[in-house]
Amino acid sequence: MEKQKVLISGASIAGPVLAYWLHTYGFEVTIVEKAPSVRLGGQNIDVNGPARKIARLMGIEQAIQAANTGEIGTQWVDKHNQVKASFPREGASSLTQELEIVRGDLVRILYEKTRHHVAYRFNDQISQLAQDDRKAYVTFASGYREEFDLVIAADGIRSKTRNLIFGNKPVFHYLGLCTAYLTIDKSETDSNWARWYTADDSRMLLLRPDNEGTTRASINFLLSEEEYEKLDRKNRKSILLQRLAGAGWEADRLAKEVEKSEDIYFDGVGQIKASRWSVGRFAMVGDAAYCPAPITGKGTTLAFVGAYILAGELASQPNYKEGFARYEQLMRPYVESVQKLPPGIPRLAYPKTAFGVRIVNTVAGLMASNIVQKIASVFSNSDSSEQDLLKGHPLPDYTTGFIPNLG
Ligand SMILES: Cc1cc2nc3c(=O)[nH]c(=O)nc-3n(C[C@H](O)[C@H](O)[C@H](O)COP(=O)(O)OP(=O)(O)OC[C@H]3O[C@@H](n4cnc5c(N)ncnc54)[C@H](O)[C@@H]3O)c2cc1C
Repeated sequence: MEKQKVLISGASIAGPVLAYWLHTYGFEVTIVEKAPSVRLGGQNIDVNGPARKIARLMGIEQAIQAANTGEIGTQWVDKHNQVKASFPREGASSLTQELEIVRGDLVRILYEKTRHHVAYRFNDQISQLAQDDRKAYVTFASGYREEFDLVIAADGIRSKTRNLIFGNKPVFHYLGLCTAYLTIDKSETDSNWARWYTADDSRMLLLRPDNEGTTRASINFLLSEEEYEKLDRKNRKSILLQRLAGAGWEADRLAKEVEKSEDIYFDGVGQIKASRWSVGRFAMVGDAAYCPAPITGKGTTLAFVGAYILAGELASQPNYKEGFARYEQLMRPYVESVQKLPPGIPRLAYPKTAFGVRIVNTVAGLMASNIVQKIASVFSNSDSSEQDLLKGHPLPDYTTGFIPNLG
């Protein structure tokens, strides 16, 4: 029987995980990536719960472990760098997870795992899409044309492929927060602890260690939807410098780094909420379909789980229509539970006044206390059980009968 041909747009996390499993199940896979090679930027992300199980099934868990950032926990500091609260990695409410990795390392591991079995087409992107009962017809920006059986958008929160498939429907839900990420020189104040600093005027700075001798910084601030709409995001440096002015702590150090940095990621924080994830032969996975926002810490997990389930359902259902329908049926409740933010988040963590900052630091101190950690550990232990990976929806096992055939 002829192999089903699948084109995936986006070579980050969701795209290569999907490609790995589709190839394992006998599909012929091409990934198109608009960048000239895989993009290795980004900060610390974690691979835990169901994502860790999928990584284990793919045979990359050890490589991820080996690239661990070495972060031992998070310290909540004040403007004098005095520690107000400590959340060690082993604690129940820690920001630091067991499998912390810099995003670029994870992207590289996934690329290495798939590159001999998947056709990668860099420096190109889909410019036109059409479909009928027989095939999907793809025109690339380079002018090249090819027919596929299925096309999957895995090109992130600002997915252009999603726009080609569904039109410019408003699916981005801004959460009132802006974030910038950059990699900076390590200084003597940096250690293996992440340091979280809350400043007045609704600002937060976070510095985290990596395994490359540099420090990963993020600059975060609240901004109303109205102001966000007017923001000239191309002018990112001056926006960030304005926000850093007078923030205290290590803000001046960060301002110097912003001025010299060539690679700053800056965007509004938001979620993607699409009413459907497929149309005919086209579908979406990962942030393109259901970005939960970095503040949930679950973007990578959803990308892993969504890609694994989408591939598994396409391989096990009688046709792609039923495959896409089952994927959505299984994934949507999980996505909705991840996207549900606690009331007041993110606003409560971003006080306007110095008094508000003191309250936030006091609450952090209380949360880090022994008694609260003990209570929280009771809940977090049951949550991490591998028996109940998707909170009531166990991760399906599609792999029986398939011996993963990537080395
Ligand atoms: C450079 C970068 C840095 C990031 N840094 C962080 C971070 O520090 N912290 C965090 O929580 N999350 C970060 N993210 C997002 C994080 O990777 C995702 O939230 C999550 O892992 C889900 O991944 P994804 O594969 O669905 O989407 P993404 O990781 O967003 O990947 C999308 C991929 O599609 C490519 N692409 C975009 N448009 C097109 C197109 N038209 N045609 C072809 N390819 C296209 C992009 O270059 C990228 O490789 C970053 C993403 C990128 C791209």
